[in-house]
Amino acid sequence: NPDSPSDTRAGFVAIVGKPNVGKSTLLNAFLNTKVAPTSHRPQTTRRGVRGIFSDGTHQVVFVDTPGVHKPKDALGKYMNNEVSTALSDIDAMIWVVDLRHPPTDEDRLVARQIRDLPKPLFLVGNKQDAAKYPEEAIGLYEALLEGREADTTVTSLSAQKNDAKVTALRAQILDVLPENPFFFPQGSASDQSREQWAAEIVREQAMMKLRDELPYAVATRVNRWTERDDGLQRIEAEIVVEKAAHKGMVIGAGGKQLREIGTAARKQLETLLNAKVFLGLEVVVIPGWREDPEALRELGYE
Ligand code: GDP
Ligand code: MG
Repeated sequence: NPDSPSDTRAGFVAIVGKPNVGKSTLLNAFLNTKVAPTSHRPQTTRRGVRGIFSDGTHQVVFVDTPGVHKPKDALGKYMNNEVSTALSDIDAMIWVVDLRHPPTDEDRLVARQIRDLPKPLFLVGNKQDAAKYPEEAIGLYEALLEGREADTTVTSLSAQKNDAKVTALRAQILDVLPENPFFFPQGSASDQSREQWAAEIVREQAMMKLRDELPYAVATRVNRWTERDDGLQRIEAEIVVEKAAHKGMVIGAGGKQLREIGTAARKQLETLLNAKVFLGLEVVVIPGWREDPEALRELGYE
């Protein structure tokens, strides 16, 4: 009887680590789909996005977190808070590190936060494909956990290549889950609404194309999503900037940059939805949104 709690295992697993080590890429690899935005820019992830993987008897709810960093504004504080929240009620944690480089102060900060939590820990050395000295590097990260008493499992892999080790690691994670009924229906991949998810895809493309401080000064939202009889998905989205002067910078000369962002996002959405997409994209100004609690709430950062 699959509905009886003793027959199923389910739990929450936080993915932590400093910005840009590949946490969201690993989450997407675990799920074989894209639930979280990724980019070469630090702090692409702002919300604690949940990705869900289920087989017949196990369900793991991965909580992707913004990287732990030193907050500069209200948005930054919200992001660090998301990390603490993610760690407060979990069954296991994954600490992702970048094997191309030795640990930094930010890694030490993460290690201190997790070292003494009495939960199974999976240390994941990521970007093995691009690392010159992966074995030396993983040793340096392991050393930051010295004195830790609870279970620790160490793996080196490449989340981007989604190699066999990603699947093997996922199986090891399923094994440590406690006996519990499923938290979400079997087929769910994420707890975000489709609008939130699509807004994140647009923001990912905007963050990749914009320069200087602009990537961190934009938010995105989807205001309307309708489906035509022939299957076309019509999505109306906005890029929110905090200063009037930024509007033109996002749009670009002759509207070129906004068009590029829109085209890239539409292609992503079409691939992921496996449907034709019309993406309407506008730029709006909400003065000082990053410091404005009400605007932050309205944009889904609460
Ligand atoms: P996060 O900030 O920790 O969530 O990091 P992301 O998942 O957004 O990834 C940051 C950057 O690292 C992106 O440019 C990824 O393409 C890249 N990346 C992620 N995993 C790997 C990997 O296994 N190998 C290499 N070479 N790059 C990776
Ligand atoms: Mg991320």
